[in-house]
Amino acid sequence: MPKVEINIEKCKGCGLCVQVCPKHILEFSGRFNSSGYDYVQCIDESKCIVCKSCALMCPDIVFTLYKEEKK
Ligand code: SF4
Ligand code: SF4
Repeated sequence: MPKVEINIEKCKGCGLCVQVCPKHILEFSGRFNSSGYDYVQCIDESKCIVCKSCALMCPDIVFTLYKEEKK
């Protein structure tokens, strides 16, 4: 299964990744990191196609993507 690792402390809650994800699996968590931003979460990693759009769009290098889950 692909893995979408999100460094929640780096997220600024801009929402660009939410808009750009073709699978609509990124959404605001409704929780806040220590900087006070509503950070993004992945609601279904199994649907990720590792297109990297989120990582390319994100201005703050929040995403690390894996094609297969780390063992
Ligand atoms: S790699 Fe693509 S499909 Fe996966 S979470 Fe990012 S934008 Fe969505
Ligand atoms: S693009 Fe990056 S900083 Fe913006 S909401 Fe998504 S993860 Fe957070």
